[in-house]
Amino acid sequence: MSTAKLTIDLDAIAANWRALDKLSNSETAAVVKADGYGLGAARVARTLAHAGCKRFFVAVAEEGAAVRDAVGPGPEIGIFSGHMRGDTDMIADLGLTPMINSLEQLTRHLEALPGHPFGVQLDTGMNRLGMEWEEWAAVAEVVLDQRPVLLMSHLACADEPDHPMNAYQLDIFRQMTDGLNVPRSLAATGGILLGADYHFDVTRPGIGLYGGLPFAEATRTVQIDLPVVQIRDIDEGEVVGYANAWQATRRSRIATVSAGYADGLLRAISDKATLWHNDTPCPLIGRVSMDLITVDVTDLGEDPRHLTILGPHQSADDLAEVAGTIGYEIFTSLGARYTRRYTSR
Ligand SMILES: *Cc1c(COP(=O)(O)O)cnc(C)c1O
Repeated sequence: MSTAKLTIDLDAIAANWRALDKLSNSETAAVVKADGYGLGAARVARTLAHAGCKRFFVAVAEEGAAVRDAVGPGPEIGIFSGHMRGDTDMIADLGLTPMINSLEQLTRHLEALPGHPFGVQLDTGMNRLGMEWEEWAAVAEVVLDQRPVLLMSHLACADEPDHPMNAYQLDIFRQMTDGLNVPRSLAATGGILLGADYHFDVTRPGIGLYGGLPFAEATRTVQIDLPVVQIRDIDEGEVVGYANAWQATRRSRIATVSAGYADGLLRAISDKATLWHNDTPCPLIGRVSMDLITVDVTDLGEDPRHLTILGPHQSADDLAEVAGTIGYEIFTSLGARYTRRYTSR
């Protein structure tokens, strides 16, 4: 078999949820959008439901359908994009809970599904999703009459604890929601780490569940092992890969490994990343191609059958740093070609 192997540790994901849950006195939800950050929304959601999670969030209604299928009728599934045109049947049939973002969505929801649960997303300065202060002021009374299940907002700079935007958004959120007697939510992973002022009634971690920064204490959840397809010796001066991007400065032994940018090994790591054979680092050389990468195994002293790109020696955030991106993008880029193996006790 030449497909790369993606091993996902469900126990580690559950442990991360529990660890994040311990950091606040609030209810801890779980964000499983983008197919559970690339790791499989259904498996992740079912695991966390068993661990005690009662509320999930996804970006769009279609993602909510997969989660509902996985967790059954009990847990609440919130939709960040709210109530979009065309989503009414899905929201009703699957019991999804849209986080209403605008007056247009509010009208649509109250007309199409009167009495159906909803939350409201408020914009506190990020200017991405949610009602602005004036809109909220205009409809708050009507909305509160309908008993929304949640008032939420999102922090723009929560991964930078000292950023003044955090306190600014907290203050706006309080002014928009204090005294309304509706459950509130402001914190994602970064917000949980900012402390109790940011926790309110419900927290919404995503990346921390999957083992990514800013939750530095997270347990790693993912290992990626790539099969070696071929090994060859080349002479000093020979070149490897597209654009002759790497040239041997000595006689070298080169492993061709099955996985490439179609598997989320971003081209930006070309000639820069490290793979591992157990505890021994081996440099990736030349360009990342769509399905293959090449690795210098000259100093290894043996021919590996697999090389590891995410594992004990290299996290998604480590690889992200090499690529000039963030762990979130590494996870969500992984793609569909891996042979996935889920482990749990
Ligand atoms: C993605 C997202 C989250 C989760 O954020 P993390 O940084 O991954 O914890 C929470 N709330 C909203 C609105 C989001 O879009």
